[in-house]
Amino acid sequence: MKKEFDICVLPGDGIGNEVIEATLPVLEKLQRGAGFALRFKHHPAGAQHYKATGDALPDATFAAAKAADAILFGAMGWPEIRYPDGTEIAPQLDLRFRLELYAGVRPARAIPGVPPALADPRARDIDLVLIRESTEGLFASRGKGVVEADREARDTMVITREGSRRVHEFSFRLAERRKLRGKPGSVTCVDKANVFVSMAFFRKIFDEVAARHPGVAAKHHYVDATALDLVRKPWMFDVMVTENMFGDILSDQAAALVGGMGMAPSADVGDAHGLFQPCHGSAPDIAGQGRANPTATFLSAAMMLDWLADRSGNDALAQAAGKLERAVDTVFASGRMRPYELGGTDGTAAIRDAVLSNL
Ligand code: ATP
Repeated sequence: MKKEFDICVLPGDGIGNEVIEATLPVLEKLQRGAGFALRFKHHPAGAQHYKATGDALPDATFAAAKAADAILFGAMGWPEIRYPDGTEIAPQLDLRFRLELYAGVRPARAIPGVPPALADPRARDIDLVLIRESTEGLFASRGKGVVEADREARDTMVITREGSRRVHEFSFRLAERRKLRGKPGSVTCVDKANVFVSMAFFRKIFDEVAARHPGVAAKHHYVDATALDLVRKPWMFDVMVTENMFGDILSDQAAALVGGMGMAPSADVGDAHGLFQPCHGSAPDIAGQGRANPTATFLSAAMMLDWLADRSGNDALAQAAGKLERAVDTVFASGRMRPYELGGTDGTAAIRDAVLSNL
């Protein structure tokens, strides 16, 4: 059984550096005497690196990410640093496409003690996972959009049978695993099948995959109705699967329900590689002030441990993931820990130290 794992660490820009720096001591403490060893290796990439060298994702960094057992990622991008065509530096998108990280896993779980955005008491039961298809959809047009004669602009949505099949399969398997832990066992396909041929195709493949998973309830919801119901009754959702652009938008909305960007973890996984990062960006407005909430990165690191446990069969990693999630829950349960983004005065170091002392 595999016990040693190479972790490619890509801190990136702005608060990406701060939240990764807070997470490494947490992982170091978790692995002490735990039956597994993580070997961290930092590599450069991101907007500041592009500014300094003209390269946002060096070949050596990409090769290291590809060779590693998992990638731990901070945040990349900076508003004032852009490619000549005006688009932002986003190596995370390149990694998703080049490593075929087709499933963007975005859990939104209400953490006890963190005030939910909604007053309804059922908001404390929110525990959903949004799966964002991450290799095609409208993002397939990135770098390929056209402007004709300064009169008309076009970006093309691409939905393929294989791209849809694999992300739907992933979603149903996730719902099956969650059902074993007492969740409802449902997958909702979020689309706009009433208007677009591409979306009707996405739904058709969803229905084909659903037929192979009779133990999970398959549901359909239009994206506009989903935006409404994520505010009206988000506790009705279990696993949701959607197109890349819709998922980009709805995952931020879901994060807001459970305490904001600093509380929202994510994973981008494919059949061969996994990248784990907080949902938030580099947050230039608070960078360098020690105000970033590292909780999303702690929870992303827990997702990484769980994913490595699944792949390696090393249960010590799954136990460490559970321990980290419980430590986060304990820190917030009293209601006294308040990150800056929730109106409090607890910064990166205070939250890190509290989690460390609860491990
Ligand atoms: P991107 O385009 O990469 O999603 P963005 O700059 O649009 O990034 P974010 O950086 O994700 O947006 O976050 C928006 C705002 O939320 C930030 O400007 C910051 O004020 C706040 N924020 C984000 N992450 C955190 C965090 N970890 N802790 C505290 N506040 C945060």
